[in-house]
Amino acid sequence: MASSTETPGAPAPTAAPDAPATSAAGVPTAGHQPVELAFEIGAGVPRLPEADRAEVLAAPGFGRHFTDHMARAVWTPAGWGQDGVVAHAPITLSPAAAVLHYAQEVFEGLKAYRHDDGSVWAFRPEANAARFAASARRLALPVLPEDAFVRSVEQLVRADVDWVPTGGENSLYLRPFMFASESFLGVRPAAEVTYLVIASPAGSYFGGGEITPVSIWLSQEYSRAAPGGTGAAKCGGNYAASLRAQAEASENGCDQVAFLDAVEHRWVEELGGMNLFFVMDDGTLVTPELSGTILEGVTRSSVLQIAADLGHRVEERRVDVAEWREGCESGRVREVFACGTAAVVTPVGALVEPGRRSVAGDGGTGEVTAAVRQRLTDVQTGRAEDTHGWLHRLV
Ligand SMILES: *Cc1c(COP(=O)(O)O)cnc(C)c1O
Repeated sequence: MASSTETPGAPAPTAAPDAPATSAAGVPTAGHQPVELAFEIGAGVPRLPEADRAEVLAAPGFGRHFTDHMARAVWTPAGWGQDGVVAHAPITLSPAAAVLHYAQEVFEGLKAYRHDDGSVWAFRPEANAARFAASARRLALPVLPEDAFVRSVEQLVRADVDWVPTGGENSLYLRPFMFASESFLGVRPAAEVTYLVIASPAGSYFGGGEITPVSIWLSQEYSRAAPGGTGAAKCGGNYAASLRAQAEASENGCDQVAFLDAVEHRWVEELGGMNLFFVMDDGTLVTPELSGTILEGVTRSSVLQIAADLGHRVEERRVDVAEWREGCESGRVREVFACGTAAVVTPVGALVEPGRRSVAGDGGTGEVTAAVRQRLTDVQTGRAEDTHGWLHRLV
């Protein structure tokens, strides 16, 4: 029983998101032992016939179809092991697996792109690896060494390289995740944790057509994250907490929901799974500062860099929801967009509240939004020079 010494009890532990790996009692970490996870590709994994795969790749959609393989590793107090690339198949879990009861789980999302010369590249996987480690610490999960994370992605894409679509903004979406697989109903960090990476071919989020601005419902009573909570970690629990508000958005005819801070109900945070940007009338880009309750998007940080490269001033600061509303009316806020790996950069049309709609500009795709989006997708797909070393060759 090397794992836990204390039971956290009913209230969630409130370790800081950046708590050091070794501080919290009972929190398993990989420690400093050298970890060599090769994620070797297993032989004999059945493959979908080529014709069937071609049919999927012709119209992949998002998150519905999966490749032939998945990467896997298992952690116990003895360390990481059982690593490999195996068949993508249902997993067997005890009904007492801790994740099913206490939601000890974190995940990531990143994409691999095929360039015109056939090579395949991941976009900033090291950033996802670092965030995965930070999320794991917050959820009292073991830390997967960052090089092992990148290696798992490399090996999976090598095994399933035929699944990486060509053309446009098509990509292979990669979903690394880790969960408490130990069979135990006691409340403490699990002593067995499973890490998996699955992959799903993805078409352009907008089906190759025009980019349609999304409408945003302002969550009235629900919060996504609170100070001291898990908002800065990429964990399933945050999404579970956002679903009721997302349903409310749909009931009000909106595509997405925006959350305000949980304390004052005044400061704009983010959408359920995307960060927000405002383009002001002087060309400045403003995004809510990282407060501990916002997820630090890899797309967000890439957009901050790209906007600066394009000659814009960028500001990370608090944004009062009144500034959004009134800025739409006065013209001070010219464009609003949301960003994240899945949808890249998405223009925001209206902010909808009971009895009020606030629309920036003409409600269409703004000039700056389009330019930022273009530059980002050009770098990802190899059509623009990768001046920041963001691309990582996989195949
Ligand atoms: C994943 C995620 C984002 C976007 O992050 P990217 O790294 O840009 O994909 C934004 N908000 C939340 C809550 C997320 O989970």
